[in-house]
Amino acid sequence: MTNQSSDMKPYDLTGKRVWVAGHRGMVGSALVRRLQEENVAEVITAGRDVVDLIRQDQVENWLGETKPDAIIVAAAKVGGILANDTYPADFLYDNLMIEANILKAAADLKTEKVLFLGSSCIYPKFAEQPIKEESLLTGALEPTNEWYAIAKIAGIKLCQAYRRQHGLDFISGMPTNLYGPFDNFDLKKSHVLPALIRKADTAKKNGEASLEVWGTGTPKREFLYVEDLADACIFLLKNYSGYDHVNIGYGDDVSIRELAETVNRVVGFEGELRFDTSKPDGTPRKLMSSERLQNMGWKAKTDLETGIRQAYQWYKENYPE
Ligand code: GDP
Repeated sequence: MTNQSSDMKPYDLTGKRVWVAGHRGMVGSALVRRLQEENVAEVITAGRDVVDLIRQDQVENWLGETKPDAIIVAAAKVGGILANDTYPADFLYDNLMIEANILKAAADLKTEKVLFLGSSCIYPKFAEQPIKEESLLTGALEPTNEWYAIAKIAGIKLCQAYRRQHGLDFISGMPTNLYGPFDNFDLKKSHVLPALIRKADTAKKNGEASLEVWGTGTPKREFLYVEDLADACIFLLKNYSGYDHVNIGYGDDVSIRELAETVNRVVGFEGELRFDTSKPDGTPRKLMSSERLQNMGWKAKTDLETGIRQAYQWYKENYPE
C-alpha cells in the first residue's frame, strides 16, 4: 500500500466531459443521475448501438472522436450466483474485453482521469473480515464467481500498470453488493436482494404460504444502496489519485435469512421462509473494510431498510403486474 494522505489530489469536475460507460445499468444510471443533479460536468453516454464495448475497433474509434476528459467504467457483464456459475466464459471474456478496450483507448488518448469499478468478489473466499484492500491475491477465490473476479482483478492491475508505466491518473473502486433502481429482477440472473423483493411481492399477491430462499440462509452479505455508491464514485473522482484500489462499502452485513425477513417486512409478506439447500451458498461472508474511504471523509447514508423501501417502490413502478 502506498502512503494514504499523498493519494489525495483534487480533480475539479467543473466543465469536464465525463463518459459514464455502462449508463443503462443500475450503477451507470445512478452515476448519470448523480452527475446531472450536481450539474457541473457534461455527461456523455453511448448505447451499445453506438459503441459495442467488446469490440476494440469500435471503442478506439468512438473514444478517439469523443475524447472525454474523464471516464467512469461502470460497464460490465454482471449477474448473481447462478448466472456466474452458468456462463463462466461470458463473464470472463466480456469483462476482460470491456475493461481492456476502454482502458487502453483511454491510455492512448491520455485521458485525464479514469475510475474503474470492480466488485468485492475479487477477494479470497476466506479473507479475514472485514476485508481490507491488502487481502487482494492472498488466497483462492470463491469458485462460483471466480470468472468475474479474475476479470475485475485484471482491470485493477491494468489501471495500476498504466499509472506505473505512463503516469496516468487511473484509479479503481471496489463496491460491495449493490441494489436499487434499475437492478436486474430476473430470478435466474439477479442477485439475492432484487430476487427476494420480487419473490416476496409475487408471494404476497398470490397469497402464498411460503417463499423460497436459496441455500441455507446463513451466508452474510453487505449491501450498499446504489445512490450512495454513485456518491462515493464522484467523491473518489474528485479527491483520490492513488495506485491502490479503494473499497466502497456500507460498513455492516446481514445474514441472508435476516435479509429475507427485512424484505418480507417491507413488502408486507407474512408467510414462512423455505430454504432450498440444493442451491449454492457461495462465499460464507464478504464484509469489506471501508476504513480507507471513511478516513478520506466519505460514509454511506442510506440504511438497509430505507434502501429496500426505495428499491421496492421502484420495482412496483417498473414491474406492474
Ligand atoms: P453472491 O453475493 O455472489 O453470492 O451472489 P447472490 O447475490 O446471487 O447470492 C448471495 C446469497 O444469497 C447466496 O448465498 C445465495 O444462495 C442466496 N440467495 C437466496 N435466495 C436467492 C435468490 O433467490 N437469488 C439469488 N441470486 N441468491 C439467493
